Amino acid sequence: MTQTPVPPRLQVEGLMRSFGGRQVLDDVSFSIPAGQVTCLLGPSGCGKSTTLRIIAGVDMQDRGRILVDGALVCDTVFRVPPERRAIGLMFQDFALFPHLSVAENVAFGLAGSRAEKRARVSELLGRVHLARHIDSMPHALSGGEQQRVALARALAPRPRILLMDEPFSGLDERLRDDIRDETLALLKEEGTAVLLVTHEPHEAMRMADEILLMREGRIVQRGAPYNLYNAPVDRKAAAFFSDIN
Ligand code: ADP
Ligand code: MG
Repeated sequence: MTQTPVPPRLQVEGLMRSFGGRQVLDDVSFSIPAGQVTCLLGPSGCGKSTTLRIIAGVDMQDRGRILVDGALVCDTVFRVPPERRAIGLMFQDFALFPHLSVAENVAFGLAGSRAEKRARVSELLGRVHLARHIDSMPHALSGGEQQRVALARALAPRPRILLMDEPFSGLDERLRDDIRDETLALLKEEGTAVLLVTHEPHEAMRMADEILLMREGRIVQRGAPYNLYNAPVDRKAAAFFSDIN
């Protein structure tokens, strides 16, 4: 019996991007299976956000291509517009709409009947433990609570992939690990494929199924957190991981 191989949820092949003659992405390739959390980890300026922006469709690569579930999303001639990629976004400065209630924020990108939307909003707010705030306005919530609403909003339309760019960096240090753990639990329940960008090894170690270690526009090592920590590819990688508290 022959088996058809299942294509990865996200496949990134040979991305190149330069700005003003400077190579910012140099042959970036990786794939993410459904249900997996992958962390793109590296120091500031190494090209993480640029990679995410190209996958989201708000920037364009010079070379390379992106496929979702085996279907071409963009190469250098063909391009599915950002709003038709079924990709969710959660950025640090991706604020809630201040004039909309918590429920309206979460329902914002949802299609379907009123009853269907209400059910999905209630389900997600329950999962992030904010059911009692369904009719609150964003300014009445703490930073951590607003962040959980933003997560619910990003997941509401069931995106095929969720892109998260330093999503916890605006939060109080003491809250971060709890919110990381809660976020991870919800992502796993939803079965979403996630690409999470961070410059903090501790965060990647805590959340990732797989880490892509990036430096100066290249992925220099990839693997399970345990493997990167125990067998860093070189001295620089070892020094980077030695900061973990
Ligand atoms: P990271 O997210 O890893 O901190 P970025 O992807 O934001 O890094 O940026 C990588 C490099 O590309 C940086 O040196 C940055 O200054 C440069 N860069 C990013 N976007 C632009 C742009 N639109 N124009 C010029 N340079 C850019
Ligand atoms: Mg960045």
